[in-house]
Amino acid sequence: MPELPEVETVVSDLRPQLAGRRFETVSLLLPRLVRYPEPAAFVAGLMGARVETVSRRGKYILAPLAGSAKRFVVHLGMTGHLRVWGRDEPLARHTHLRITLDDGRELRYDDQRQFGRFLLGAEDELRTARVFPRLGPEPIGDSLTEGDFQALIRRRRRPVKSALLDQSFLAGLGNIYSDEACFAAGLRPTRMTHRLAVRERQALFGAIGAVLRASIAHRGSSVASYVDAFGVAGRNQETLQVYGRGGRPCLRCGTPLKRLRLAGRTTVYCPQCQR
Ligand SMILES: [Zn+2]
Repeated sequence: MPELPEVETVVSDLRPQLAGRRFETVSLLLPRLVRYPEPAAFVAGLMGARVETVSRRGKYILAPLAGSAKRFVVHLGMTGHLRVWGRDEPLARHTHLRITLDDGRELRYDDQRQFGRFLLGAEDELRTARVFPRLGPEPIGDSLTEGDFQALIRRRRRPVKSALLDQSFLAGLGNIYSDEACFAAGLRPTRMTHRLAVRERQALFGAIGAVLRASIAHRGSSVASYVDAFGVAGRNQETLQVYGRGGRPCLRCGTPLKRLRLAGRTTVYCPQCQR
């Protein structure tokens, strides 16, 4: 599933292609991907709208519309791709939304597994309709200081991995980067958050920022079907230390990596390097 670095890559690719563009026609081929409002109102609301910019919050792509409080919101789910295509380029398989732009190109969304979703509305409206969750702070950028993080994590009483996956605690991490952050911090994913020492919380904060920033620099991890907004795979999967490597030797110490089930997800860690 695309996590913060993958969504950030797509957003930074789409921004220059979409900012200022007007949506001319909207063709919704799989209406059930629209969670709010009704599909007909969604299509009508996008028709003729001009995109102000493209940004990201957690794993959500946000496109605020000019002269309106409304924003077009896309969550890529497991296998979604949002991409600008030339009008005559053949349709990708599983294309579920086509929007023609005023420069003659098309914004298209394809999604093999169909876990993605679309929303259209003002921030308050989407929250009231319970279709956009309350998200925790962004783990990178200036919005979260180490002090804030220390305070936030001390209030939780749960395994570190579960906390990192919880979007209302921190926005944007999924299975890949929570395992990678635990490894980089030298912490077992099963450790309880409220029992971490100050320096361990410090290490975790630093590790989260480091793994996310490195992945953005590598244009994301293409571990499943993820590609950027130009259809090109990222390179960060080549640098992953533990994710998807259960049973194989730790790249740092050679000990076989352990695999367990935590918070419903496969979790991999090094029993030697992580304490
Ligand atoms: Zn190790």
